[in-house]
Amino acid sequence: MVDYEKIGFKCGVEIHNRLDTKTKLFCGCKPRFSKEKPDNLVKRKLRAVAGEMGQVDSAALYEYLKDRTFFYQCFPEETCLVCVDEEPPMSVNKEALEIALQIAKMLKAEIPEEIHVMRKTVVDGSNTSAFQRTAIVGLNGVLKTSQGDVGITNICLEEESAGKVKKDGNELTYRLDRLGIPLVEIGTAPDIKNPEHAKEVAEKIGMLVRSTGKSQRGIGVTREDVNVSIKGGARVEIKGVQALDMIPLLIENEIKRQQEMIKKGEKPIEETRVAKDDGTTKFTRPLPGGERMYPETDAESIMVTKHMLSKIKIPETWEEKAERFCKILPDGMVDQVLKSDYLGIFEKLVEKYDPVLVANTVTSTVKDIRRNGLDTDLITDEILEELFSFVKEKKISKEAIPKVLEVVCKNDISVLDAIDKAGLESMDEKQLEKIVEKTLNDHFDLAKEKRFAPLMGLVMKEVRGKIGGDIVSKVLKKKLEK
Ligand SMILES: [Zn+2]
Repeated sequence: MVDYEKIGFKCGVEIHNRLDTKTKLFCGCKPRFSKEKPDNLVKRKLRAVAGEMGQVDSAALYEYLKDRTFFYQCFPEETCLVCVDEEPPMSVNKEALEIALQIAKMLKAEIPEEIHVMRKTVVDGSNTSAFQRTAIVGLNGVLKTSQGDVGITNICLEEESAGKVKKDGNELTYRLDRLGIPLVEIGTAPDIKNPEHAKEVAEKIGMLVRSTGKSQRGIGVTREDVNVSIKGGARVEIKGVQALDMIPLLIENEIKRQQEMIKKGEKPIEETRVAKDDGTTKFTRPLPGGERMYPETDAESIMVTKHMLSKIKIPETWEEKAERFCKILPDGMVDQVLKSDYLGIFEKLVEKYDPVLVANTVTSTVKDIRRNGLDTDLITDEILEELFSFVKEKKISKEAIPKVLEVVCKNDISVLDAIDKAGLESMDEKQLEKIVEKTLNDHFDLAKEKRFAPLMGLVMKEVRGKIGGDIVSKVLKKKLEK
């Protein structure tokens, strides 16, 4: 057992979460991945400029020295002149601002009376302007955890970067649909006590953001950066952690790496490392210096009035939600739903449909489909609403849900088309009775001994997805009693 206090363990996390808003943060583009092919390509060269202190930032310089050329893919509805940095930004997306302020309130942070948009130097080409716009909306908050309070140093509203498509020597290609999607960044103080605690903190912050009901979902929507150092070592930032479960292992490995260097008489340096799938990390660049931020002169500052703040309500807390869910779901399911990124739509659907069925669908069914390698991002809120309305109208049985969603994910089609494609149009009781009678005739021995279970299995094999198991059971029992 490692004594983390004794080794001088210091750790903080930074959570980034994309918000589900109608437009991007500083323009009217759709904040989503385009399904279209790029309709334009922009070529750029970037160079590092001296920051306000007259020094060239070391991280910036490092990237500059690589002498790269950048290509940017544009998309019809997801890219505009602001996105390619040919036009100044529009005023900040109010919806995104309100969500960020709501999160700041939930974390009991101090909210500045005037919010200033800043530019943060980014020279890896993932921003067309070579900077990322960011605004501090909250400072000095606090997060309650099982191991005491963890300070929240800052809550920022920022632009998402462009997504990397490929790297070909010194030429990098990015897609611009992702650029400018609103993002909240939440950074903690180095109050984290041990690797497991880091996971809890990251998880709690993720849940808090999702409880606004305005978090995007899918792979890559939440990203964690972890800062770690030990006595005699150096602060290392591990970037791009996508799975919460990996956090403890990544931290333990980083501690070991620094300890081994110290043992050999080497001095670890402050650096940025990227998380790999096996729980180890890889050097990416030196840690950026302090010259990265300067004011965004093209964007107006935002006044936060008392009136504006009073209108922003804090959503129900986690504990309150859990208590409410305990009344409608079996114990084991409550936690799964709370941690699910389908929480928002779950809340909406349970007003009309069977909570257990909805919970099962958004947790285990989606997980199974994902495990089979299908793109579950295609299971949108609209798809789920359509699906459950069909179940309610008895157009399909509830047993057909996994099949329908699978076909939706496989073909990127609507629920109605998936039902057609899978041949899942439901049957009525008359048609079912015929199948039951035929099964009883074909398996006369089983029928004579009234062996319900095997007969039920045989009938279900024929009708699964087309009519509910409860109805099959009722009809079969009735026939056997005759
Ligand atoms: Zn745009």
